[in-house]
Amino acid sequence: MPHPPLEPLSLPLDRAGWLSFAGERPAERLARVAEIDRRLVAETALTTSERLDLWNDADIALAEAAAPSHLLSECHPDSDVRAAAEAQAQAIDAAQARRLLDRDLWHVFSDADAAGLDAAQQRLLDHLRRDFRRGGVDLDDAGRARVQELADRDTALSQTFSRHIREGRREIRVPAASLEGLPADFLAEHPADDEAMVTLTTEYTDLMPVREYARDISVRHALVGAYNDLAWPENEAVLADLLAVRAERAALLGYGDWADYETETRMIGSSAEVRAFLDRVAEAVAPAAASEYARVLERLRRDEPDATEVTIADFWYLLSALKREEYDVDAQLVRSYFRFDRVLDGVLATTARLLDVEYVPVDAPSWHDDVRTYDVVRAGERLGRIHLDLHPRDGKYNHAACFGLVPGITGHALPEGALLCNFSRGLLEHDEVVTFFHEFGHLVHDILGGHHRWASFTGIATEWDFVEAPSQLLEEWAWDAEVLASFAVNDEGRAIPADLVARMRTADAFGRALEVTRQLGHATTSYRLHVERPTDLQAAVDGYYRSASPVTPLPGSHSYAGFGHLTGYGACYYTYQWSLVIARDLLSAFAGDLFDVETALRYRREILEPGGTRDARDLVEAFLGRESTFDAYRDWLAGA
Ligand SMILES: [Zn+2]
Repeated sequence: MPHPPLEPLSLPLDRAGWLSFAGERPAERLARVAEIDRRLVAETALTTSERLDLWNDADIALAEAAAPSHLLSECHPDSDVRAAAEAQAQAIDAAQARRLLDRDLWHVFSDADAAGLDAAQQRLLDHLRRDFRRGGVDLDDAGRARVQELADRDTALSQTFSRHIREGRREIRVPAASLEGLPADFLAEHPADDEAMVTLTTEYTDLMPVREYARDISVRHALVGAYNDLAWPENEAVLADLLAVRAERAALLGYGDWADYETETRMIGSSAEVRAFLDRVAEAVAPAAASEYARVLERLRRDEPDATEVTIADFWYLLSALKREEYDVDAQLVRSYFRFDRVLDGVLATTARLLDVEYVPVDAPSWHDDVRTYDVVRAGERLGRIHLDLHPRDGKYNHAACFGLVPGITGHALPEGALLCNFSRGLLEHDEVVTFFHEFGHLVHDILGGHHRWASFTGIATEWDFVEAPSQLLEEWAWDAEVLASFAVNDEGRAIPADLVARMRTADAFGRALEVTRQLGHATTSYRLHVERPTDLQAAVDGYYRSASPVTPLPGSHSYAGFGHLTGYGACYYTYQWSLVIARDLLSAFAGDLFDVETALRYRREILEPGGTRDARDLVEAFLGRESTFDAYRDWLAGA
């Protein structure tokens, strides 16, 4: 059914407008939700279809409140606007939790007659009932009160855990003479004190260069050791409490363990499947990891003839040394081809070609002059709008991520999304180019998938363990010699040579298996801590990492106390590898031709455009024409 063309959101022009946009607009949406909830309960004669429409109206209002609140709290240059947005984001979270414990609202759907619903309505009703049940609504009064208490405890403990990490910065002092190998600019920024000592902190700006370049093993071990004890002992009891709270909540809600609770809404489906998946990755990675390990140990022995093992404190140093010495990839030379403006043009041109869209620059107000706004257009039709906020500034989010701004709803609103990144305005590292493609993968998924009727199924509202797959797939375009040559041109006008890209790819493949075992250590820790709940956390976690990787943890370290993802990811740190298995399989369908027109079209239609309207497993099978397999991931592990 044709709809009149939709107009993008008009963003405010001035400070008063932004304060209202961040404060009053979401509050108005929340009032609308309360009114809808009142009608749902009061109007008992509504059909199930009418109830679902009203519920969807509330979902749209909630998403229209939540998306800009999360975005603005991370990017608006005015701290008052950020604070207003943050306050609204908290109010929205609270409203959502409260709705799922509201028994009157639950009865509107638990008693609803499903006869005559179409497939999408039935799916929405199933999801809705599931979400209510997961919230604990069908427990007795005491049970509901306890679930609420446990959920609040989880939030509070998670915040404490994260705060201890954020505030847990450690320092060590080392002799200035022991910093051999570190870059000149690092040494200039770290002058020696009166005693010829240099202070190093556990911040990434010190940690990363030291663990990568410090030739003195004792310096690497001292700083990585301090980093591995970040937030310890403070977080020891916090983590034990958090694990206990989650176990009790899972049991109260009728789940085998916390991983069963978390995975119920994901592709993987159960705790037992997480365990099986981790075992499978471990088995697949073992041969390549063993041969890589032999090489890094041999390289360590050139520095330290008596070394018997490679520890996590030596891992980055050895990989970096081998890549430099054996693969002839000079990072300085590589970055000379990646001037920011050309990379931006390249990301736009590459994805435009792949997805058959155009990006039309728009001169419209936004939250900062750095923001570049484009309409995403196909055949004259506007599909959505993107906002690229790509350079660092004070008070802005300091990683790279994609944020929604407007959820796309058929006949109601065009999808809009934003990237918040922190790229230099000059030359980029190749890693950053890969990141740019990755985040852009989320953005186009949000726009192309954002044309559906139901707010719960539009854009990137798909299973959490699938959502990285389209982004991980798009990274591959940043590793293709032809794609890179189309935009990676140095200041003399020469495109990046294919043989340099080939060396970059070979160097990238080396260490991949060991890196996967390191990730497997994190995933195993996240899973087994939640499922086994050991009494001796230190001994258990040491064992998890030793079982996952030949690269050993530092003895006696307490890295779990600083493992920030334990709060948000819970038992599910496996998701990144799970998505990667799918991404490698999706890539195999392109059979080496990244712009194959037929495959690209199928990818768009079967993976991106459906958004969350179908289970991810069905999307993947529709695209591949078969069940997803492990084969392409296994080949990638072996260095292909
Ligand atoms: Zn991502």
